[in-house]
Amino acid sequence: MKKEFNIARYFGDFGGAFIPESFIPILDELENAYGKYKDDPEFTAEYNYYMSEYVGRPSPLFYADNISRDLGFKVYLKREDLNHTGAHKINNAIGQILLAKRMGKKRIIAETGAGQHGVATATAAAIMGMECVIYMGAEDVKRQEPNVFRMELLGAKVVSVTDGSRTLKDAMNEAFRDWLTNVEHTYYLIGTVAGPHPYPTLVRDFQAIIGREAREQILKKEKQLPDYLVACIGGGSNAMGLFYAFLDDDKVALIGVEAGGRGVNRGDNAASLMYGRKGVLHGSKSKVLLDDYGQVSDVHSISAGLDYPGVGPEVAYLHDEGRLEAVSVTDNEAIDGFRYLTRKEGIIPALESSHAVAYLLKDRNRFKKDDIVIVNISGRGDKDVNTIYQLMRK
Ligand SMILES: *Cc1c(COP(=O)(O)O)cnc(C)c1O
Repeated sequence: MKKEFNIARYFGDFGGAFIPESFIPILDELENAYGKYKDDPEFTAEYNYYMSEYVGRPSPLFYADNISRDLGFKVYLKREDLNHTGAHKINNAIGQILLAKRMGKKRIIAETGAGQHGVATATAAAIMGMECVIYMGAEDVKRQEPNVFRMELLGAKVVSVTDGSRTLKDAMNEAFRDWLTNVEHTYYLIGTVAGPHPYPTLVRDFQAIIGREAREQILKKEKQLPDYLVACIGGGSNAMGLFYAFLDDDKVALIGVEAGGRGVNRGDNAASLMYGRKGVLHGSKSKVLLDDYGQVSDVHSISAGLDYPGVGPEVAYLHDEGRLEAVSVTDNEAIDGFRYLTRKEGIIPALESSHAVAYLLKDRNRFKKDDIVIVNISGRGDKDVNTIYQLMRK
């Protein structure tokens, strides 16, 4: 297919589309469609309609007075946990499904690990009246039973993948196979700023509403830009969503908090920016956690949403350029962050978001008295209460 729209395929050395040649026309079709609709007023109006009327945006930028007084600097929370379905993932799922509709697709496929992206996708498919198939590793189906049931309630078909390690990467392979076979009427909905071009760009754009709102909200409340933005990083979509509107504001420091897991040894964490090397994962070049043979290594985090061996290519680029600082907090520190926000502000954050909160506690001395810090509360913690309960009983 001829390319009518060219969206940048690389972020510095990162990005691209490292996939079998048979996918090139499919990705070209997607790039053309996205190029055509991304600035189309009708498309934008429809996206904005669902963001406000269905998702419940704008999400508040809450001044956390109690923890601000305790920590000694000003902390604002971007409340993505208040979105419909309880996290930022719905912003992207709705955006892409509207694009799929414009492209004439009738069937949505996705892969999911912990099930959160699967639930967001099944939700968007339900309201748009589209057929939905979610691929999930058989191990994950077992571990995430409530989410599997939720997807099924929403009308999605959950396919349990029994190949390989029976986890996310096997589910992804299966989804790619499905896409190639059924591309005429099928749209593949990726859940974070990863995957082959143009996914990292379009997912970022659908999440960038977080930072556009936060920028306007903080200017209204403080009459100035923040000093720091802090977000947890799994694949990087809630972080890119918050950061994107501030990229050109050099005085706004960007901090990405990775999963430090049980510690620095390989296999014990999921801190791809800090410990990863250049490699290809899921169709793009980025920073990837690799073993001595160059194979993707095992990763660990207490939080299922951060348990990913790579990171989006634009995130890797911003880190390489020195624009984005990467830090990590351990499982135990994240639990402290979870309990801290819950007790101090009456907000139960997702374990993913708890990493971002925990970083403020861990490095509280780096911040000065009048510093303004915005923390992205990417999701709510109801899904994690049982994990915390089990840990506390031990
Ligand atoms: C999936 C998820 C994440 C991690 O994904 P990113 O693409 O890095 O944002 C973080 N927080 C929550 C609540 C999630 O569901």
